[in-house]
Amino acid sequence: MKSICILGATGSIGDSTLNVLRKHPDKFRVHSLTAHTNADKIIQLATEFKPEHVVVTDVDAYQLVRQQLTVQNTQIHCGSAALEEVVAEATVDLVVAGIVGNAGMASVLAAVQAGKTLLLANKESIVAAGELVMPVVQQTAARIIPLDSEHNAIYQCLGSEYQTGVRPDGVKSITLTASGGPFWQTEASQFKHITPAQAVAHPKWDMGAKISIDSATLMNKGLEIIEAHWLFDMPNQDINVLVHPQSIIHSMVNYIDGSVLAQMGCPDMQIPISHGLGLGQRLINDASFLDLLQQQQLTFYVADTDKFSCLQLAREAMVVGGTAPAILNAANEVSVAAFLAGQIRFDQIGQINDRILNAIQANQVESLAHLQDLDIEVRFKTETLINSQQ
Ligand code: NAD
Ligand code: MG
Repeated sequence: MKSICILGATGSIGDSTLNVLRKHPDKFRVHSLTAHTNADKIIQLATEFKPEHVVVTDVDAYQLVRQQLTVQNTQIHCGSAALEEVVAEATVDLVVAGIVGNAGMASVLAAVQAGKTLLLANKESIVAAGELVMPVVQQTAARIIPLDSEHNAIYQCLGSEYQTGVRPDGVKSITLTASGGPFWQTEASQFKHITPAQAVAHPKWDMGAKISIDSATLMNKGLEIIEAHWLFDMPNQDINVLVHPQSIIHSMVNYIDGSVLAQMGCPDMQIPISHGLGLGQRLINDASFLDLLQQQQLTFYVADTDKFSCLQLAREAMVVGGTAPAILNAANEVSVAAFLAGQIRFDQIGQINDRILNAIQANQVESLAHLQDLDIEVRFKTETLINSQQ
């Protein structure tokens, strides 16, 4: 019986994780669930799973949960600091990092400091804080198991060769596949007309709003290049990207002898999550089985970095290193939120990210506090830039 903490239980990753857990009550016990603002959903989930701890980071939502949650023996905590405490509890075996954005960074670091097995969906935290997190992994013998479908595909291909943050022997390069999002065939001249509703409607994956916009700009693939760099210790030139609109091959490992291993499946996050939770044991879930005869064609294209500038920006930030990925990531969180709020156009997301990445000097990552201060500074500068353009 594994005891599991789910950070971001009310989101899309939380949904897929809990769907898998419902099938395996004999294998997993829910230790803790966390939410930000969705009081109704966390009350419903806590009533069903009866965790020892519930953390609600938003104060208003916390008040509602306190008043309305009636499960006995569930302690309710408020605020982000409680996330760091709950992941480090001695009885926690597995931590699922399903918070979106930089808000998940401190709890990811805390889980690794506590030597936990971290099932990572929250790519932004490793993008921003990889330089802090990876040395701690080596010190504490924590493990990071990727849930992001591409990285999980590579982890599946590597099998026992995978060790967090260590380049596997015999690997020449890796190839991350990208669905291309809804607009990979749209003319760049049309980008200014794209609405939030169109951009959120991903053709293959059902995900939260922020990652859906990142998929539409290909910033998601850019963040995933940086994520792969940290998890598999790969340099920029050994991480390829291919647009594969069917989203059947989730990524590939290219070996020095010419062998290529790929992992395939229907685009459903229950598949990588089941694999991550199983720790080598296969677990059943509700995902559909792949029918290649029905699929008929698997196609591949070069990603157009002129049209999707965010992809190139991420590579540039990774090569600069230090705080550059954190700067790009924070700028992107603000520009995506501004696009969703109708404040900027779709084509401005990349432009704003570019301006901010080039306006702020990158330096060495010193500490979590350093990254948190930087996050505040970048958010302020990005918001100021957006407001000056209104
Ligand atoms: P979502 O928006 O559906 O859910 C986000 C979760 O984070 C919610 O539980 C919310 O309560 C919590 N949260 C939001 N802001 C918070 C804050 N300030 N403090 C604490 N908690 C906060 O997002 P999602 O699609 O589930 O994505 C979660 C993470 O997983 C992202 O980093 C995303 O890139 C990654 N990911 C998601 C998918 C997917 O299929 N959804 C696939 C691969 C990777
Ligand atoms: Mg992915």
